Amino acid sequence: MSHPHSEALYARARAVIPGGVNSPVRAFRAVGGTPLFIARGEGQFLVDADGRRYLDFVGSWGPLILGHAHPEVIEAISAAAAHGTTFGAPCAGEVELAERVVAAYPGIEQVRFVSSGTEAVMSAIRLARAVTGRDLIVKFSGCYHGHADHLLVAAGSGLATFGRPSSAGVPEAFTGCTRVVPLDDEAALEELFAAEGARIAAVVIEPVPANHGLLPQRHEFLTRLRMLTRAHGALLIFDEVISGFRLARGGAAERLGIRPDLATFGKVIGGGLPVGAFAGPRQLMARLAPDGDTYQAGTLSGNPVAMASGIATLDALARGNGWQRLETLGAEAEEALRPVLARAPFPVHLVRVGSLFWLSLHEGGAPRTAVPLAAAASARYGRLFHALLAQGIYFPPSAYEACFLSLAHRDVDLQTLARGLERALATAA
Ligand SMILES: *Cc1c(COP(=O)(O)O)cnc(C)c1O
Repeated sequence: MSHPHSEALYARARAVIPGGVNSPVRAFRAVGGTPLFIARGEGQFLVDADGRRYLDFVGSWGPLILGHAHPEVIEAISAAAAHGTTFGAPCAGEVELAERVVAAYPGIEQVRFVSSGTEAVMSAIRLARAVTGRDLIVKFSGCYHGHADHLLVAAGSGLATFGRPSSAGVPEAFTGCTRVVPLDDEAALEELFAAEGARIAAVVIEPVPANHGLLPQRHEFLTRLRMLTRAHGALLIFDEVISGFRLARGGAAERLGIRPDLATFGKVIGGGLPVGAFAGPRQLMARLAPDGDTYQAGTLSGNPVAMASGIATLDALARGNGWQRLETLGAEAEEALRPVLARAPFPVHLVRVGSLFWLSLHEGGAPRTAVPLAAAASARYGRLFHALLAQGIYFPPSAYEACFLSLAHRDVDLQTLARGLERALATAA
């Protein structure tokens, strides 16, 4: 299918923007073809530069939990913008959004706003190092925490891998304080804590890992992690940039009944504008400047337009019993897709947590750890993606990315997806 306007824009983009995109996965490299340039979003739909309409299951990778251009969010943004877009001084919106976050999330008393999820995790880690006086950070293979240097670390094999950068431009010295362990592996955790527990400032985890497919963890694994961090005086950081305000009002922490020491937010919390946040008990957050000795700042942090977008989004969710409706919607999606997948001409497994779902093309069932997809399965996903796109269904352009449902999705959309998927699976076989 040709997309002349997208192709022309992409050609111009490649001349002036590296790879033609401002975030790599947008370039369709994993699935091939020309990325679509999007002209507008309407509820559950995207409209591209060539005027074609797509049922959207990406939702800008998470923020658009109410769908595109939700009237209440747009009205709040417009009203705020009319009064000025940034002051470099405190505004009421910051207090109002902070009060909502503190009321929603278990065990936190204070929150600081930043402008992205990357910044949120970066800052939470600085704070963890300050309060513990320790240097080491532990992350899990397959979890993504933004593009800060010390977190861009690939997992090697073995129980605990010494941090080796997975990007050029990251000195080994920077990642030398990062340890990587596999998910779903209590023994690896025990071993790491036995060897280096007294040097570990924090363990950071996506409580529902959603950046390497969807890899929900066993409850025993997460409770073991909570126990070990506490026993060794290390902080547990839940990176709730995807799960926060999506899987429950109180995020994955509420859903799982496990409290971290610090939590990070992004995506939903800004309702489509650039907002991130990190939060914790007052006693920890007090170490931040200006009260404490741990510096952290931002020219556009807490700006009134972004705060208005976040507030309108959280209020719409809370008012409409949004989290319950998202849960129901997820269950309906599962019900619509299961029979289709059961008839699929190759192995496809549906993994779902609330309004997140993932089609795993791994042979032999969906994994719980970050295992790479076989080349043949990756190629199949590329064909599946394009077969869906040709039917007006927009899926993530990578086999490792989860799909996102929003409150704009209707039962009829799930039926459309089920029918489209049935045909696409046949094409991809
Ligand atoms: C998206 C994401 C980030 C990074 O957020 P940005 O706003 O893209 O910087 C961090 N952690 C998780 C779990 C994410 O999904």
